[in-house]
Amino acid sequence: MMDIPKSIRQVLDRLEQAGYEAYIVGGCVRDSLMGAQPHDFDITTSALPEETKQVFSDMRVIETGMKHGTVTVLADGEPVEITTYRVDGEYADGRHPDEVRFTRSLSEDVARRDFTMNGIAYSPVRGLFDEYGGAEDIRRGVIRCIGDPDRRFNEDALRIMRALRFSAVLGFEIESRTADSLRRNKELLKRVSGERIFSELCRLLCGANAGAVLRGFSEVFAEVIPELAPCISYDQHSRYHAFQLYEHLVRAVESCPKEEGLRFAMLLHDIGKPHTQSADENGEWHFYGHARVSAELTDDVLSRFHCSNSFRKRVCDIIRYHDMVPENSYRFIVRRLSKHGLDLFRDIMLAHIADDSAKQEFAKKRIPEWKAIIRRAEEIAQQKPCLSAKDLAVNGRDIAELIPPSPRTGEVLKHLLESVIEGRVPNDRDKLMAEAERYLKTE
Ligand code: ATP
Ligand code: MG
Repeated sequence: MMDIPKSIRQVLDRLEQAGYEAYIVGGCVRDSLMGAQPHDFDITTSALPEETKQVFSDMRVIETGMKHGTVTVLADGEPVEITTYRVDGEYADGRHPDEVRFTRSLSEDVARRDFTMNGIAYSPVRGLFDEYGGAEDIRRGVIRCIGDPDRRFNEDALRIMRALRFSAVLGFEIESRTADSLRRNKELLKRVSGERIFSELCRLLCGANAGAVLRGFSEVFAEVIPELAPCISYDQHSRYHAFQLYEHLVRAVESCPKEEGLRFAMLLHDIGKPHTQSADENGEWHFYGHARVSAELTDDVLSRFHCSNSFRKRVCDIIRYHDMVPENSYRFIVRRLSKHGLDLFRDIMLAHIADDSAKQEFAKKRIPEWKAIIRRAEEIAQQKPCLSAKDLAVNGRDIAELIPPSPRTGEVLKHLLESVIEGRVPNDRDKLMAEAERYLKTE
């Protein structure tokens, strides 16, 4: 039934032969039961960490987390984590158990795990161990806490985000008691580090069911990203928009490729709107400067999540330019390629597509044009046009024939680059030198 790689099977067999119990457990069993290929296999055993080390004394053993009972053995060169059955002690901080205690009882180990679908163990010799009906919940597509949900979310509030992430990725429903409890306990998320919330959000936003989860649990998202709170039930009073602001954001997420940066950008691309609203004499609302304000607010959001600077910068740039007006012309595209580079320009155009997919029906008419611009930008980039000073047919040494090196040299080169990008001067040494002379005379 369960497709276990040979190296994992060997580790299980050796522990059993030494007189211990050994099972695969958690995500790998869940994924196998769903018919999906597990990305890694976790092993749980009655052997104490020291005993596990003994069993594999002829192999490379890494003490990954002895305090938590985890050692890693290299089986066939592949690292395999083996964790001793354990019971978690009290969680005073809602993040980490104060202490862990090892046990010889699989039942006790499984009771500390988060959801029934993650509390199933399987051994090729002992069979399936499923005390909480996890297999049935997987079959029905249900996420349910093991034990009392309030207590489990209080122990470790990250489980709130994990439940939402699993629902978004697996398309499972969160069972109603668990769902009520995670809503009720959302404020506990304040205790969880930004990094851990961010990592769950990234996976959640790329899930096939992300939209439904964003809709169903908006108040929880407003807890981890307070900037979203004013977007919920916010009527845009705009003829371009068929939906309230939060729903527009969710639809934009659903309409862009499943990639973390783009999905974050679409979720946050309009969060500046409530801060920039104005009404004209017809009662139509406008949001002048909202792209810049949204980008600034997003910079705060992503700083709190401590994600990489490059990720933060990229998402903010997509948002800053999400409402510029694109033009399907060589000049426009080359200018943009020079300013953003192909990758960011493509992201900005994908954001246009997602944004227009989430407005009124008529806005969708522009989408083929945005796609054509992406294709054309890719073609133009292939031809390697002059996009930066280093692509010019002249450099600082050439300019030194005209003026002694000084900050003016850079100014001249910048002017030449603009001239080439605007198509006024071809990228040819003689023509550029003539233009440089003319520029120096007239400026
Ligand atoms: P994936 O690896 O796809 O994220 P997973 O279920 O394997 O899914 P891991 O974070 O690898 O998730 O954790 C392995 C197992 O450890 C889980 O299946 C679950 O049994 C248990 N677990 C992980 N995190 C928690 C938690 N915060 N609270 C309780 N149990 C947890
Ligand atoms: Mg895992």
